[in-house]
Amino acid sequence: MSLPFSRCVDASIRTSTLVLLFVAIFTVSPAASQSRISDVEQEIVEYIEANVDGAIDLLERTVNINSGTMNFAGVREVGHIFRAELDQLGFTTRWIDGAPFERAGHLIAERRGSGPGILLIGHLDTVFEEDSPFQRFERLSDSVVRGPGVIDMKGGNVIIVLALQSLQSVGLLEDLNIAVVLHGDEEQSGAPLSLARQTLVQLAQTADVAIGFEDGDGNPETAVIARRGFTGWQLNVRGRRAHSSLVFSDDIGFGAVYESARILNDFREQLVGERYLTFNPGIIVGGTTIDFDLEQSRASAFGKTNVIAESTTVAGDLRTISREQLESAKTRMRAIVSQNLSHTSAEIVFEDLYPPMAPTDGNQQLLTMVDQVSRDLGYGPVEAVDPGAAGAADISFVADHVEMAIDGLGLMGDGGHTLSETADLRTLPMQAKRAAILIHRLSRDNN
Ligand SMILES: [Zn+2]
Repeated sequence: MSLPFSRCVDASIRTSTLVLLFVAIFTVSPAASQSRISDVEQEIVEYIEANVDGAIDLLERTVNINSGTMNFAGVREVGHIFRAELDQLGFTTRWIDGAPFERAGHLIAERRGSGPGILLIGHLDTVFEEDSPFQRFERLSDSVVRGPGVIDMKGGNVIIVLALQSLQSVGLLEDLNIAVVLHGDEEQSGAPLSLARQTLVQLAQTADVAIGFEDGDGNPETAVIARRGFTGWQLNVRGRRAHSSLVFSDDIGFGAVYESARILNDFREQLVGERYLTFNPGIIVGGTTIDFDLEQSRASAFGKTNVIAESTTVAGDLRTISREQLESAKTRMRAIVSQNLSHTSAEIVFEDLYPPMAPTDGNQQLLTMVDQVSRDLGYGPVEAVDPGAAGAADISFVADHVEMAIDGLGLMGDGGHTLSETADLRTLPMQAKRAAILIHRLSRDNN
């Protein structure tokens, strides 16, 4: 990073005094920001720089173990490796058995000191199951590696470990009040979801701050302080079965298909355009008889072109930025559903899956702290990701229970969930330093 900058300095000095002044200002600023790092923070920085190679080895080892969500043995094996790292740091670790929610389980590590409760969130599983062609960690260049789950999010887990190691190396881990949760089912959550996220919510209830180490939008100049929640809905509509020639008549009415179309069109006309609100009917089936399997997301129907449809089912999602927006949308959707065309009836059932993480003042404050840490380290500002672009994540379950929450502090790169998932290794020490110093300052300022 500094090399091209110094070259630019050499060239500019020869050019003009105006440029010289410009260069003087900009060459001073990194030095000035360095001085904002305290002595102990400087030691943290040095520890991390000296231990990046070990962290990359840990990343390679864990990426090379398949831990697709449904490969329970693999998820547990990756869990064992991170558990050993956290045991070494003096954490009390336990494995939550995933059998009750049909997944591998979760790793929980706690170290209870006097400071504010800080919850660090990662996950062990990836979207790449054992039958995926994508199984190995591969170096593409000095700074770029490719591998399944390298940024989503074994890299984030490694950053948690490296940040905690650096805090231990300077004797700061002793007083911290930290819990680490590494889920085994982030990519394909266990069911019931309330059970699969029970421990996370319990830990959040006693925590003050939550930090997620997902890869965010892949850009180290951003972090996530708001995520839209995700609610599923199913619309079931009934009409009166009769010969098609009688449709629209006073006795028979409009049938299930017209009523479904009315409802969906009213949703669109009345709710579209509100910021951060989206709802999408993903599957629809209608006819004389229908068979809808939500679990498998499959449907079949029997109907005839000369028969008025008796049944329709539509299933979709609803994404919102806050609980208020969610409740308001549900109320309006229910009202639309209730205004039935003649001789039809309809009901809509909602299932809240991921709660929204609203952009609260607390989250904004935490972002301000991250931004300051980043500037002090000479890495420049950190801004909030557009919540419209951020999908639901585990941090959403804790956002309501803590004072401050932020996500997207993990290893950066691109191509998550694809065969070209790559990481920019330069962001590994960068994110570990930011995390360690953030944790230190959160504890220092609140002790
Ligand atoms: Zn993830």
